Amino acid sequence: MGKKDLKFGTKAIHAGVEPDSATGAIMTPVYQTSTFVQDKVGQHKGYEYSRTLNPTRHALEKALAALENAEYGACFGSGIAAIDSVLKLLKAGDEVITSVDLYGGTYRIFTEVYEDFGIKFHFVDMDDLSNVEEKINTKTKLIWSETPTNPVLSIIDLKGLAAISKREGLILGVDNTFATPFLQNPLDLGADIVMHSVTKYLGGHSDIVMGALMMKDKNIAEKIYHIQNNTGAIPGPMDCFLVLRGLKTLHLRMERHCENGRKIAEFLREHPKVDKVYWPGFEYHPNHEIANQQMRDYGGMLSFSLKGNDLKEANKVMESFEIFTLAESLGGVESLLSHPATMSHAGVPKDEREAVGIVDSLIRFSVGVEDAEDLINDIKQALA
Ligand SMILES: *Cc1c(COP(=O)(O)O)cnc(C)c1O
Repeated sequence: MGKKDLKFGTKAIHAGVEPDSATGAIMTPVYQTSTFVQDKVGQHKGYEYSRTLNPTRHALEKALAALENAEYGACFGSGIAAIDSVLKLLKAGDEVITSVDLYGGTYRIFTEVYEDFGIKFHFVDMDDLSNVEEKINTKTKLIWSETPTNPVLSIIDLKGLAAISKREGLILGVDNTFATPFLQNPLDLGADIVMHSVTKYLGGHSDIVMGALMMKDKNIAEKIYHIQNNTGAIPGPMDCFLVLRGLKTLHLRMERHCENGRKIAEFLREHPKVDKVYWPGFEYHPNHEIANQQMRDYGGMLSFSLKGNDLKEANKVMESFEIFTLAESLGGVESLLSHPATMSHAGVPKDEREAVGIVDSLIRFSVGVEDAEDLINDIKQALA
């Protein structure tokens, strides 16, 4: 039986990991070393220098590739460093088409770093793919998408986007951080590069910062490995070890994230103080059908607004939680809440923000894997 035929949970535990050849250790050791002794000039065991490749990182790169049905994986010091390496595939004069609804840090690296290097970014509403087609010209090289989006959980049609990208000979990169490979595999839908902030669900325990890129195409992968080695934004072996450990429960955690997400979304929808609930599992969600086509479940991220939309009241509610804690980030075992209008999206002008639903009373949950009953009781008392 080939490892490719294995189901997700089996791959999460076994893919990429072999017993250590030197000792038989079942867990990949933390190869905390910068260099590797060579037997003779030009003769080594596959590792020369840890920037180029380290055995602990190598095991993780293989594991992540397997989970995304990819051939190649590359890890970076952060999710943003992974995106940075994709942008280094481009040169001055090239153009990128991306979404209006991006992770804030992605928006910043595009506009505050790479525009200065002569790369042009078009921000379009990807709900309607004709907006993407309209911006394509001979300089276009990359389409960059993210789905579900933050914080209003829009779903972008990846198959449709991939068809456009293929027809025009472009590279399609997809940030799969919110969905994880448990819920969605963009490469199978036609993307060329999948990116993860490993910091979130893949690590899963809020104890590391890391990024990754997964690819099927050898040509693109070779360029990415060249950039990884020559610009050096790699993670250390200890962090790779922690993610290898985290991955072993990814499928179990995701099942609970989804189950808790569903219960909380349904509870919020019935609550008299709640105005809108953003969760792709509801039939009224504008992209519910696309979510059903490309995702296996709806995940643990959701947002909601309060009736009356009063910032003071929202603040009072946010301060009243006892289990949900106020913090940036997401995807860990513990439930977090954030306030997009003053945190992740504070830099976006108020009218632009409100046009996409990010009103003052919008609260985003990263639903953890605690007992749903306790989480719902916490929401009940905070809203009261
Ligand atoms: C967190 C995040 C990033 C950035 O990743 P870091 O690991 O923080 O550098 C990119 N995209 C999304 C969707 C994220 O949530």
